[in-house]
Amino acid sequence: MDIVNHWIAGASFEGESTRTAPVYNPAIGRVAREVRLASVTDVGTAVAAAKAAFPDWAETSLAKRQAIIFNFRELLNARKQELAEILTAEHGKVLSDALGEIARGLEVVEFATGIPHLVKGEYSENVSTGVDVYSTREPLGVVGVISPFNFPAMVPLWFFPLAIAAGNAVVVKPSEKDPSASVWMAELFKEAGLPDGVLNVVHGDKVAVDALLEHPDVASISFVGSTPIAKYIYETGSRHGKRVQALGGAKNHMLVLPDADLDLAADAAVNAGFGSAGERCMAISVLVAVEPVADDLIAKIAERMSGLTVGDGRRNCDMGPLITREHRDKVSGYIDVAAVDGATVVVDGRGIQVDGEADGFWLGPTLIDRVPVTSTVYTDEIFGPVLSVVRVGSYEDGVALINRSRYGNGTAIFTNDGGAARRFQREVQVGMIGINVPIPVPIAYYSFGGWKDSLFGDTKAYGPDGVHFFTRQKAVTRRWLDPSHGGINLGFPENR
Ligand code: NAD
Repeated sequence: MDIVNHWIAGASFEGESTRTAPVYNPAIGRVAREVRLASVTDVGTAVAAAKAAFPDWAETSLAKRQAIIFNFRELLNARKQELAEILTAEHGKVLSDALGEIARGLEVVEFATGIPHLVKGEYSENVSTGVDVYSTREPLGVVGVISPFNFPAMVPLWFFPLAIAAGNAVVVKPSEKDPSASVWMAELFKEAGLPDGVLNVVHGDKVAVDALLEHPDVASISFVGSTPIAKYIYETGSRHGKRVQALGGAKNHMLVLPDADLDLAADAAVNAGFGSAGERCMAISVLVAVEPVADDLIAKIAERMSGLTVGDGRRNCDMGPLITREHRDKVSGYIDVAAVDGATVVVDGRGIQVDGEADGFWLGPTLIDRVPVTSTVYTDEIFGPVLSVVRVGSYEDGVALINRSRYGNGTAIFTNDGGAARRFQREVQVGMIGINVPIPVPIAYYSFGGWKDSLFGDTKAYGPDGVHFFTRQKAVTRRWLDPSHGGINLGFPENR
């Protein structure tokens, strides 16, 4: 059976650990290959390779770094179909969605090509007589990236191109459930001219993650995954003196006001609820319908759901399988809970007809109405193709509900009332807001991140926050000496 190796110092690396984990093809339901699980020593080898590559890379001119990022962008764009096939084979998402993921990752690579402009400092002349002050931004050193299963290409791309452009050396620890995309991208970056050791990939589980968190030569950790792990990463990394950004889970609400165009709202709810089988941190998982629209809206959504096709992502289907059998069973367990908790299962995705092998990890799109807000169907992040409906009496009740959630990743409002939309944008306690846009993932030159339990740390991913995270500032106060600067004065320096 194939084995996915680490990628260290520009070459495939087996390491000393003999532990491995299975990697499934979720549409077939069988193990397709194994992935190595690094030991502490293996992680140490990757960090050492990055540390060795860092000084020369940090000294490489902005023009040369920029040219290599450009090359990577061109290669990735030219060969994205290959990468999309890897994503579909290991994650299960349909090919068109895999290409969409890569397109959003490419945006960040394009942003990173602007690195000469992004790291420009500030300059103030003559702040005191004959004294100038200016700032520079320098790379951190070795930076760690730990990514989740649901975006095996895009989430690593949120971080490593910008980190590298800024002059850092990187160790990526991708999800062990779909590890091949990161290795493929690292090989491609080498082809683009990146020196060996600047980008390394180690595979693994908690052992590898803890080794990165505790390694004294790792300056920062960028993490994306579930909330409990994000909190652990933030606390452990910070305790070890690292800069940490840890993006967590979500429960995204879409508020539909009575004046909204219900056909557009229904289209949006279906696209954002069931795309990528609901395994997106920006998926809409709760529809908050302001009465009297709920019945009409639910009818329109159910009608659209009846046309969705589920199957092997290589075929022309709308939705693929879930990532593992255990995850599928967990998600489908919430449909049982919904019935027990008094909700109404309007569309039940269990036992759906699929265009794929019987053993795939299938669950069809599911719609549940009148979900009590005390039910775990409402409170838990389900991370599957399950859309809950909560009916409310007013805009105020809807916003209050959203603001009571422990999560604050994304939200959307559907309305034709500009005043209501503006009020929502100001009142809602969520980091990313869509106004008639259901999955408001910011473009690469803004930054991505939520509030509350959806992000630990003060820095979001990519955009200006990303540049800030992967660099540190120096402020220089400078004068060129002349005799008038002499003399003894023990007072605190004042500007004159
Ligand atoms: P996960 O938390 O299980 O895993 C994320 C990473 O942490 C993986 O690399 C994994 O190997 C590692 N990990 C798992 N258990 C660990 C442990 N006990 N100790 C240390 N490391 C551990 O998340 P997942 O299931 O891969 O991804 C889905 C989750 O990610 C969802 O909660 C989703 O909302 C979230 N997510 C959030 C965003 C965002 O931007 N906020 C984006 C994508 C996914």
